[in-house]
Amino acid sequence: MAEVLVLVDHVDGEVKKVTYELLTAARRIGEPSAVVVGEPGTAGKLSEALGSYGAAKVYAAESAEAAEYLVTPQVDVLAALAGSASPAAVLVPASVDGKEIAGRLAIRLGSGLLSEVVDVDADGVASHSLFGGTYDAKAKVTQGTPVITVLPGSIEAEQATGAAAVEQVEVPAASGAKITGRQPAEAGDRPELTEASIVVSGGRGVGSAEQFEVVEKLADTLGAAVGASRAAVDSGYYPHQFQVGQTGKTVSPQLYIALGISGAIQHRAGMQTSKTIVAVIKDPEAPIFEIADYGVVGELFKVAPQLTDEVTKRK
Ligand code: FAD
Repeated sequence: MAEVLVLVDHVDGEVKKVTYELLTAARRIGEPSAVVVGEPGTAGKLSEALGSYGAAKVYAAESAEAAEYLVTPQVDVLAALAGSASPAAVLVPASVDGKEIAGRLAIRLGSGLLSEVVDVDADGVASHSLFGGTYDAKAKVTQGTPVITVLPGSIEAEQATGAAAVEQVEVPAASGAKITGRQPAEAGDRPELTEASIVVSGGRGVGSAEQFEVVEKLADTLGAAVGASRAAVDSGYYPHQFQVGQTGKTVSPQLYIALGISGAIQHRAGMQTSKTIVAVIKDPEAPIFEIADYGVVGELFKVAPQLTDEVTKRK
């Protein structure tokens, strides 16, 4: 069976959920091999979890330097493995880093890149969700090893039996941009925005930074991440790292609740593949209703607290 390389997204010794989604997608195309780039000892700790989602092999690309550089170690390792293993495809999470890694890799390999896909079938045909889910565009790479970035949350992760054998691979000398410091996002105990199964986002309609509390309260009751529209971010209501959209993060949770967000195309680009979309907004003509599964035309400061109370009662 053809090998399919999956770049493992991991942080603080934990595999991120999107990796399991990628391994599930990879099993449709061939036999998944997980590629772990990190400091020495990382792959050994992650191999059991990776095996439980069907990774037959774990390539351990480990060096102290690999963890200190942005994207180039991953590109170097994937390019070397793609050359030696001739995989059927390389799957990468459609995160900010993942998209850069995939773009650089496709250029190195002289092959085609499919970006931000929401599904992929056994023949390597990938689906893109366009214009708020109105169109489902299918595409296939016709030259070289397909490099595919998959949107987090778009494919349901399914466990599989199996144990992954760890194989050490060489990490080329690191170069490029070096990380000089790390500061965790101020999300507190909330889940990471792109990993969360529920996201509650606020827009300009929230009105102020103080009033964003109404968004946070609903999010905390649901165990959700908090997001924001660009208008809310630009107005200083919420920090930039929580912006959802074309120039922010792409999310694809099971449930996306938009409070006071009109649904401009640039916002939709970052959340339109969410499984269920709920909108609460005063304007009945707002474009968010074109993609919302449930909509409330109303005052968010009345509706959101009622939702929070109702969810709390049912817990
Ligand atoms: P608005 O469009 O102003 O909508 C606010 C809505 O709230 C209104 O419909 C109003 O009726 C309603 N409202 C007001 N008060 C209440 C209340 N009390 N209760 C209920 N409803 C209320 N946008 C993004 O979000 N993400 C991006 O990544 C992004 N990238 C962009 C990139 C480019 C190149 C450009 C040009 C734009 C980008 N934008 C992005 C901006 C985008 O075009 C919109 O301006 C923005 O999404 C609007 O944000 P909003 O929906 O919060 O505000």
